[in-house]
Amino acid sequence: MSEAAEHFDVAIVGGGPAGAAAAITLARSGAQVALCDKAYFPREKCCGDGLTTGALRRLEQLGVAVPGLAGFTRVDTLHVRSPSGRVAKVPLSSGGRRAAPGLRAGVVRRLDLDAALVASARKAGVRVLEGHGLEAIAPAEGGVAIEAGGRLLRAAHVVAADGAWSTVRKVLEPSSAPRHQSPADWHAYRAYAHGVSASAASELWVWFPSELLPGYAWSFPLAGGRANVGICLARGSGESGGELAERWRRFADSPLLASLLGNGATFEPVRSWPIPSALSLERLCALDGRVLFVGDAAGAADPFSGEGVAQALETGIAAAHAISDGRASHDAAARYRSAIAASLALEQRMARACRRVMARPLGARGAVRLTGANAWTLRYVGRWLYEDFPRTLVVAPHTWRRGVLSQPPPFSSVR
Ligand SMILES: Cc1cc2nc3c(=O)[nH]c(=O)nc-3n(C[C@H](O)[C@H](O)[C@H](O)COP(=O)(O)OP(=O)(O)OC[C@H]3O[C@@H](n4cnc5c(N)ncnc54)[C@H](O)[C@@H]3O)c2cc1C
Repeated sequence: MSEAAEHFDVAIVGGGPAGAAAAITLARSGAQVALCDKAYFPREKCCGDGLTTGALRRLEQLGVAVPGLAGFTRVDTLHVRSPSGRVAKVPLSSGGRRAAPGLRAGVVRRLDLDAALVASARKAGVRVLEGHGLEAIAPAEGGVAIEAGGRLLRAAHVVAADGAWSTVRKVLEPSSAPRHQSPADWHAYRAYAHGVSASAASELWVWFPSELLPGYAWSFPLAGGRANVGICLARGSGESGGELAERWRRFADSPLLASLLGNGATFEPVRSWPIPSALSLERLCALDGRVLFVGDAAGAADPFSGEGVAQALETGIAAAHAISDGRASHDAAARYRSAIAASLALEQRMARACRRVMARPLGARGAVRLTGANAWTLRYVGRWLYEDFPRTLVVAPHTWRRGVLSQPPPFSSVR
């Protein structure tokens, strides 16, 4: 490493939702923060672009004006189709026929969302270094030294937010498997479709065809007559990359998809990416508690749904609080681990149980039937699915707070 180092309280590697959330939270607490990303924003991220209530709530907290972002599409109803073809229309807005104020779900391209998050970090005083890929990381006196884009940085803590293929992890744990090679992980395919039907451009669909279980397929509406279409597949089945890709081709050519998108739809090239969904408390921190892993680099995504934006934001914010509240280096790691053990680790355990139910057609059919059983189940199962309140409420009473079911939706001034 070269000699002239720049000093920060915290250096963050990766400017996706996890890294940006950590950066904004730390900068607001008065820390000197550097955020390095190998990319230049706006940059593509292979994703379904769907935002749950949990994600929207945290984005609001971080001051990101999501409803104003280019192409943002509000969603008030989820259409869920079981293996037998039964459809449950799950209302997320409580406003009956008219949309109620606030947002419980939405879709916005990650190209735009992540650029807005990084812009908010810059505005909060974070030193953003684009085009700075991590090259080296090592212990240094009083903290950690990293080299990124030929620049040497020193910091008391590093937040590793560099995604599913985390380079920080590879450098610090050269002999361990990447985070996304657990059987609990997902692999997902996504393509943007253009010229879609009016229904596809305005409705959000999730299908559970028997051949994809416990995975599923989706079509999420986007402004400009487009839709984000994809499938989420369980890893650990032993299938090769070619076999997984064949599953995408079969879905892309299926009458089910054509019936929603219409005959005139055209696809941009498909992309695929892993979704690590097996958090390990032991591997949450490294280098004597100086490095904290967040988001996909920590395996934080949901093992039931594959959603990971809310979890990336949650872990980024939790790591930032652990660092700014801790007095000594090991305090930060201990605080972070115990915050995650009490929240996300518990959520993942329950989500794995739900995934086992969805692995069989009978279980998936029962789940959709239960969701549509009556007005109450439609309303609360939908909000539970969309992370409006801790999902663990049903199994862990300590996660219950007064008023948790009646809190207003995020962005409650938006109609
Ligand atoms: C096809 C697909 C569909 C999905 N759909 C949804 C969805 O609809 N809703 C949802 O909530 N979740 C979804 N997810 C999951 C979600 O995309 C991820 O969980 C989320 O992006 C994780 O955020 P992150 O900040 O941890 O990582 P990322 O968003 O991957 O960000 C990592 C950042 O690190 C940078 N980086 C990487 N390596 C380096 C390096 N060496 N040096 C510096 N920077 C580096 C990258 O450039 C990137 O900016 C989907 C995932 C896939 C694959």
